[in-house]
Amino acid sequence: MYDISYQKIAQDSLEGRSVDHKIALKILGGEGVDFLPLLDAAFKVRQEFWGKKVLIHVLNNIQNGYCPEDCSYCAQSKNSKAPIEEYAMKSDEEILSEAKLAYENGAYRYCMVFSGRGSSENRVAHLIHLIKQIKERYPLEVCVSPGILDEENMRTLKEAGLDRINHNINTSRSNYSKICTTHSYEDRIQTLKAANASGLDICSGVIIGMGETHEEIIEMSQTLGEYAAKSIPMNFFIPIPGTPLKPQTNLTPEFCLRVLCVFRLLNPRAEIRIAAGREFHLRHLQAMALYPANSLFLSGYLNAKGESDVNTLQMIKDAGFTIESEQNIDDLLKKMPGRSPSELLSPTELKGVSELRPTK
Ligand code: SF4
Repeated sequence: MYDISYQKIAQDSLEGRSVDHKIALKILGGEGVDFLPLLDAAFKVRQEFWGKKVLIHVLNNIQNGYCPEDCSYCAQSKNSKAPIEEYAMKSDEEILSEAKLAYENGAYRYCMVFSGRGSSENRVAHLIHLIKQIKERYPLEVCVSPGILDEENMRTLKEAGLDRINHNINTSRSNYSKICTTHSYEDRIQTLKAANASGLDICSGVIIGMGETHEEIIEMSQTLGEYAAKSIPMNFFIPIPGTPLKPQTNLTPEFCLRVLCVFRLLNPRAEIRIAAGREFHLRHLQAMALYPANSLFLSGYLNAKGESDVNTLQMIKDAGFTIESEQNIDDLLKKMPGRSPSELLSPTELKGVSELRPTK
């Protein structure tokens, strides 16, 4: 097995040289990987391009369910029996007031997500109106996840002020047909090509833990590099009761960190975002994920709840990072329930006899 020079992999990544394939494979699954030097190598790269800033994203599930596609991991798919709240598109008023809330809670980017295969001309026209309204009112970056879309419609959205389009590749080319049959990996790649041609920034990510091999994880990371993804949301598969896909891999906190390090080293300038599964799979190592990653979601995911806003912000602060926002992290924390100075200084609770003598 190859020895890893942690200094060399950081240097290669910083200077735009791809990390050796065998080394990337070893990082993912090999024995004898020194964990702290690996995190440090990834952090050197993260720090060079992003400092110690964390970009906060807030998702708005502006249409939930009613999807005719069969992505087997998704609670909104036609085959899902998950008891989600289904609704057609939210009103403009609701979407705008949620954009205001996201801004007030420190969001850097506001992401509007639709269920469904793609977006019609009518929806694109509606989105143009919404994007303009949000950009006029709040200093937020705006991202839309509209499904499959062609270049012309993307150009129109860009002209309206859209900063970024989200379209995840989700898994590898060879694994795609095992998780979805109603559209193909190639459909997804065509949308990324259209986004590149329109000049929109691309946000495209993956869901780790859906049966892909380590080779395929590296392939996904390289593919996103080829399409110059500015932002890479890293989801770790959460099995939602009622969805057909069962856990394929036993994800551990350490493995998730290894994957984040590989993505950082192979995509040095990208915004690497810890997305769904952060709480479920990284557990007590969540703060360590800030060393390779520079971005995360606040207020949960599409249908799955996440850690509370206050705990996420407190984790960022406690780990010595700060947020990219007009809002100050200390001011945000002070105004959140449970974090006023007097509550923080509340006296320590003393153990009772049942805790002191549990077997008596
Ligand atoms: S991932 Fe998107 S396209 Fe697939 S089922 Fe869910 S909402 Fe539909």
